[in-house]
Amino acid sequence: MAAQRDYYQVLGVAETATTDEIKKAFRRLAKQYHPDRNPNNPQAADRFKEINEAHDVLSDADKRKKYDQLRRYGAFTGGGGGGFGGGGTRRGRTQESGGAGGAGGDFDISDLGGLGDIFSSIFGRRGAAGREAEPEEVETEVTIPFRVAALGGSVPITLGMPQVCPTCGGSGGAKGATINTCPECKGRGVVSFGQGGFAVNRPCPVCRGKGTVPSQRCPACQGSGEVRVEKRINVEVPAGVEEGARLRLKNQGPKNRGDLIVEIHVAPDRFFRREGLDLVGVVPINLAQAMLGSRIKVKTLDDKRVVLRIPAGTQHGQKFRIPGHGIEKNGRRGDMYVETHVTLPEKLSADEQEAVKNFAEKAGLKY
Ligand SMILES: [Zn+2]
Ligand SMILES: [Zn+2]
Repeated sequence: MAAQRDYYQVLGVAETATTDEIKKAFRRLAKQYHPDRNPNNPQAADRFKEINEAHDVLSDADKRKKYDQLRRYGAFTGGGGGGFGGGGTRRGRTQESGGAGGAGGDFDISDLGGLGDIFSSIFGRRGAAGREAEPEEVETEVTIPFRVAALGGSVPITLGMPQVCPTCGGSGGAKGATINTCPECKGRGVVSFGQGGFAVNRPCPVCRGKGTVPSQRCPACQGSGEVRVEKRINVEVPAGVEEGARLRLKNQGPKNRGDLIVEIHVAPDRFFRREGLDLVGVVPINLAQAMLGSRIKVKTLDDKRVVLRIPAGTQHGQKFRIPGHGIEKNGRRGDMYVETHVTLPEKLSADEQEAVKNFAEKAGLKY
């Protein structure tokens, strides 16, 4: 992940810039890189985001002060920052972090609100999953049949997901093992690093934030307290779901705590296509049906048969409406349309040719 850029550089202002100067610089740049002015330009979009982030922090006296402290510490000097090792950071929930923040200079990144994200991008995103760590989200994609998307339904998916180890119940200890205070963090679950009365906390790498270590590790999970299992989940798809929709399944993610996000893709249908809430089905008709009129049977999406009368002189691509047989969503219901496609015979016998010539003469068709 790329290192965070220096916010002062982003806005092109001096460290000593006044709030007014910051505001001015922000307005000018925001105008220049606004997505409305730069359609389909991902670089401008990134820049716009960066500018907003920088302004968000530097225009707030409190956030700016904290940012300046960290900046002095070397967190934003470009290529990765001075002395910040890898490993994961933990976001949120200070009250559970086991006495962190005792010493005057201690600094919990969750205090910074939005700035926590900056740290995520420096440290790598939520590496260690400690006991108090925010439940993670997991994303997956699924392609569903057109009919299920239109009418709604249940779609089973299977995916590997971290679950609490059933052998040790998540403790990470082997049967009969004693649970001891972690020697690395002395049970705090976090370790501080830094110097000069200023420190940043991160989850203890030895106990993974638990504060305790077993005398012998659980053989099933090697002490991590979690195992990956194939989980079968029924995704309830609402009627009328659209391509690219994202469904959030509460507590169906890792360890049944985090959420599972399912991105929906809709497979095309042989017969129907979708136009908003309307359905359009293509029906082939032959030359005689088109010229003389006919009754054709069509199936609606929910498999009802409807007889449709098409008049003499029906054209290729003409649409006929069948009211109320479209997609129902949020109390509104679309219509179904039948689009006629006229198919012509590919080869004519001598007799048939004669008949068509005859017809052409009578109808005054030149050929
Ligand atoms: Zn285990
Ligand atoms: Zn520890």
